[in-house]
Amino acid sequence: MVIVMRNGATQEEIDSVVDRIQGVGLTAHLSQGVERAIIGVIGHGGDVRMVVDAVEAMPGVENLVPVTKPFKLSSREFHEQNSVVIVNGVEIGGDEVVVIGGPCSVESREQTLETAHAVRAAGGKLLRGGAYKPRTSPYSFRGMGVRGLEILAEAREATGLGIVTEVMSVAELPAVVEYADMLQIGTRNMQNYNLLEAVGKCPLPVLLKRGMSSTVEEWLLSAEYVMAQGNKKVVLCERGIRTFDTSARNTFDIVAIPLAKRLSHLPVIGDPSQATGNASLVHAAGLGAVGAGADGLIVEVHPDPARALSDAAQQLTFAQFEQLMTTVRAVAAAVGRGA
Ligand code: PEP
Ligand code: MN
Repeated sequence: MVIVMRNGATQEEIDSVVDRIQGVGLTAHLSQGVERAIIGVIGHGGDVRMVVDAVEAMPGVENLVPVTKPFKLSSREFHEQNSVVIVNGVEIGGDEVVVIGGPCSVESREQTLETAHAVRAAGGKLLRGGAYKPRTSPYSFRGMGVRGLEILAEAREATGLGIVTEVMSVAELPAVVEYADMLQIGTRNMQNYNLLEAVGKCPLPVLLKRGMSSTVEEWLLSAEYVMAQGNKKVVLCERGIRTFDTSARNTFDIVAIPLAKRLSHLPVIGDPSQATGNASLVHAAGLGAVGAGADGLIVEVHPDPARALSDAAQQLTFAQFEQLMTTVRAVAAAVGRGA
């Protein structure tokens, strides 16, 4: 942290800022320029942040300039190499672009098994499916709960595909942990800090969706919550954000993918299904994400999208998913990756 003093700040004001910093055990480096003084603060990020508010309000202080990022464990500054997260034997963040496919919600045994087989046949590496669904309306289908998890486990048994499924609360975490291979934290829960800390204490990898109104920095700070509890197996997922433009369900912030990868060593994937809300746009958005360097995609697939109990407009048919997989491979190859 660098403290810039006002032009004309008195020696007394400068001294009290230096005293304040040294008083909490931090080191202050004063450089006295011709017009103004600049004070460099050296110490651990957490300690520095503790005095920030106090110092900012002190007389003679013009502004504070952060030098390091507020996130540490998720930051590339402290971990240069890309992290690889392994889910049921599948590497996310390695050489290959990993596609997770499956229905928005588990609706029945037949629907889930049929989809799992189609996803696998097309080259998908993991199966998604919600048993606990966060729905905007309390009257919508909200998932099959534990029965849904049992069906997912049966689909894993039948296809070998690992299961990615959402956990919405600390209360349901033990049940989900029993069946899942990866815990999805949905967009609505990205800032549910109790839930983030609870999954941070779990052994399973976590798929952390970006909050629909969150900045990239807030998203990485949420990853920090998980990692600070010991669980370093976090994969970030850009799934579209809310903007003024409502012509698609969300605005797919494709730039957030390379940006998050630059700021963090964690793998980053894209969710073109929630991002667009429309099956006819999923293909383009998915290829864009892979072209932008995503380590994978999570895509909704349904045997009969028109009859889906959630997100009917955005789920791909098996044929559409197969087509997507074919072009994903081509784009992945063009950016030096396999798929
Ligand atoms: C989903 O994956 O079906 C879902 C609800 O995702 P999000 O939390 O990104 O809306
Ligand atoms: Mn969905």
